[in-house]
Amino acid sequence: MPGKSKAPAGVKLHKLSSNETPLGPSPRAIEAFRAAGASLELYPDGSAEKLRQAIAARYGLDAGRILCGAGSDELLSLLAYGYLSAGDEAIYSEYGFLVYRIATLAAGATPVIAKEKNHTADVDAILASVTPRTRMVFLANPNNPTGTYLPFDEVKRLHAGLRGDILLVLDAAYAEYVRRNDYASGLELVATSQNVVMTRTFSKIHGLANLRIGWLYGPPAIIDVLNRIRGPFNMNGPAIAAGVAAMEDAAHEDKAVAHNNLWLEKMTAALESLGLEVTPSVGNFVLVHFPKEAGKGAADADAYLTERGIILRRMDAYGMPGALRLTIGNEESNRAVVAALAGFLGKDAAKALS
Ligand SMILES: *Cc1c(COP(=O)(O)O)cnc(C)c1O
Repeated sequence: MPGKSKAPAGVKLHKLSSNETPLGPSPRAIEAFRAAGASLELYPDGSAEKLRQAIAARYGLDAGRILCGAGSDELLSLLAYGYLSAGDEAIYSEYGFLVYRIATLAAGATPVIAKEKNHTADVDAILASVTPRTRMVFLANPNNPTGTYLPFDEVKRLHAGLRGDILLVLDAAYAEYVRRNDYASGLELVATSQNVVMTRTFSKIHGLANLRIGWLYGPPAIIDVLNRIRGPFNMNGPAIAAGVAAMEDAAHEDKAVAHNNLWLEKMTAALESLGLEVTPSVGNFVLVHFPKEAGKGAADADAYLTERGIILRRMDAYGMPGALRLTIGNEESNRAVVAALAGFLGKDAAKALS
């Protein structure tokens, strides 16, 4: 179930439902995309060499251990097709990103759900869910839609508790936003293990969701398998060109992080001062829990906001009908959503967000 993206006629749209960046992509990425329009008749480089080199240079990695894909969604599907089949089990956590379920089922395997604690993945529950049929564990860190994360020590404890024939997939789609000393995206664990891969995306901080660019860092043997089963031209030329330019514009990324840090804190405080419960987030979005009272619930809030052109994401598909996920937007959108929620709850918006 995709999110909505339309406002009523004549009402300004504030789309805060898909964790897209309010800053847009780097101007250099837009320019590179436009320039790529001059050669649309040519097939792209099937190995996305330039993009892999740009990523490798930026993070100090071996380009031979990087695979690019049409969004990390494609990479997650390739992992499932490569390593799961009927009878196999893949574990993910209770409120884990739903693409894991889709990829697992599409590969004919069985999803296994490990309970969370405080909307956070629970390493003990994941390890307790392992059976002889387990072949894969998906962990989004930080997780979407909860925004919570596991400290790297916990990720290492999870890895240490898994058999060597279980692949640990670390989905670090929001890694760039996290500013916590105890967090790591997993590059180090991939470099020192045979059964860990990490996926990243250009859809969030780099603002290139429309071009579909993701990358995976993994052991050579796994990269080899995925290269054999992927489409030969899974990356298009304009995406490769824009991705290279985005990788090279670290200043734009810093700007996006600074904006998010400022507004993540302000929005969390504002929503809490309206009496709403907010799950502490390290991403570019927050999970907001609404009261159970009739007329004050998440579905009521969603209807009220949608009428005013403000689109949040319903969480029914995640088994959280009492919550909405709100992406951190630009200042105007952030103020609009706080004002509208204050109106919905009968509170004073000016007091919530100064
Ligand atoms: C947005 C998101 C992705 C990225 O998906 P793309 O296919 O790269 O756009 C991956 N994982 C999580 C948890 C996400 O929220």
